[in-house]
Amino acid sequence: MFKKILIANRGEIALRVQRACREMGIKAVMVYSEADRDAKYVKLADEAVCIGPAPSGQSYLNMPAIISAAEVTDAEAIHPGYGFLSENADFAERVERSGFTFIGPSPESIRIMGDKVSAKQAMIRAGVPCVPGSEGALPDDPAVIKKTAKAVGYPVIIKAAGGGGGRGMRVVHTEAALVHAVQTTKAEAAAAFGNPEVYMEKFLQNPRHIEIQVLADTHRNAVYLGERDCSMQRRHQKVIEEAPAPGIPRRLIEKIGDRCAAACKKIGYRGAGTFEFLYENGEFYFIEMNTRVQVEHPVTEWISGVDIVRTQIAVAAGEKLPFTQRQIQLRGHAIECRVNAEDAYKFTPSPGRITTWHMPGGPGVRVDSHAYANYFVPPNYDSMIGKIIVHGDTREQALARMRTALSECAVEGIKTNIPLHRELMVDANFVAGGTNIHYLEEWLSQRER
Ligand code: ADP
Repeated sequence: MFKKILIANRGEIALRVQRACREMGIKAVMVYSEADRDAKYVKLADEAVCIGPAPSGQSYLNMPAIISAAEVTDAEAIHPGYGFLSENADFAERVERSGFTFIGPSPESIRIMGDKVSAKQAMIRAGVPCVPGSEGALPDDPAVIKKTAKAVGYPVIIKAAGGGGGRGMRVVHTEAALVHAVQTTKAEAAAAFGNPEVYMEKFLQNPRHIEIQVLADTHRNAVYLGERDCSMQRRHQKVIEEAPAPGIPRRLIEKIGDRCAAACKKIGYRGAGTFEFLYENGEFYFIEMNTRVQVEHPVTEWISGVDIVRTQIAVAAGEKLPFTQRQIQLRGHAIECRVNAEDAYKFTPSPGRITTWHMPGGPGVRVDSHAYANYFVPPNYDSMIGKIIVHGDTREQALARMRTALSECAVEGIKTNIPLHRELMVDANFVAGGTNIHYLEEWLSQRER
């Protein structure tokens, strides 16, 4: 096992990985930007190295600074967390070329999955069902674009091959708007992701977002840990996640889960990963694979009893998965609310100093957050400052626990979206379960009126 790991991230996930290291008897090196200098999790680390000023381009995305931090601290491996460099194949390659272990899949896997066009092609080959759409990237020829859309059927969605984080997508309802939409998305994709390639998919009207968590080792073992329902989204960003997905027959989950695990073996995948699907009328359609740990991993940890971060580290060190598919038993129901430093009504970011920070506890409650009273939320990064996760024997019990947990929360000094979560946990449709990916946006537009 590794003796020392460098954590190339910040915030709650940096703390999550640090906790796993501590539990495993591994020393944790934190890198931090000037904006995160005083954060408690940085002070708690065995060693900490400043890698640059606040803007992430000069710090958390600064590959040479991170690699030299690993060199000077004698770390053996680098955990990238999520976001930042976690899905950057060049980074994974540079880490390995510099003699460190990248805690994640191979640079080749990241590269294939990071390009949504090549990812879809790999999935089709591996027998994973995909959303109908263009075969690969769209050409420039307007006639061909129109013909493709006609064959797929309107509405269609134009998506950037290099897109991520809910950006680089455009829905088109009519042929009149098509060519312009493709050109605009291409220009935006070139600017935002450095890759102008776009592709077309059928825009599914009322799907749910269902994803399968996988874990694979370097000995050709791969398992799936059930599914998560992440349909509660705003601007394609997840707000609430839960596991299992309400109302989906287990045999369908088992079938798609087995396909995902088989695909991992086929493509030689290692580490943790997530196959994201849209689910409509009993069918799963692959949209993308995330080659890293996800924000919502705790809901799966809770129902499966598997520590995903610990397993990531273990398989990166060459260990075999400590369980087989048959040994994985899912139990109860888990729900996660993402806590963002933002206005709960207008969604404007609300960085600043937290004066009061009281988080819930009790049976079946887990809080993953790096925040505390007197913590300053820097304005430079994502607004998510933590996650409240609950578990219950049933979904009803989990909902009741989340309502209680949210009622205990007291945060002052900054605004958070906790009031939004309180409203959603008593919303009749959410409580009934099975809302689709548009539900939250529709609910918000009615709330505003
Ligand atoms: P990203 O990498 O930016 O997260 P995804 O491909 O995972 O992009 O899509 C994000 C979200 O966009 C999905 O969860 C879904 O809400 C919506 N979406 C993507 N593709 C489609 C589609 N073909 N039909 C309907 N909605 C879609």
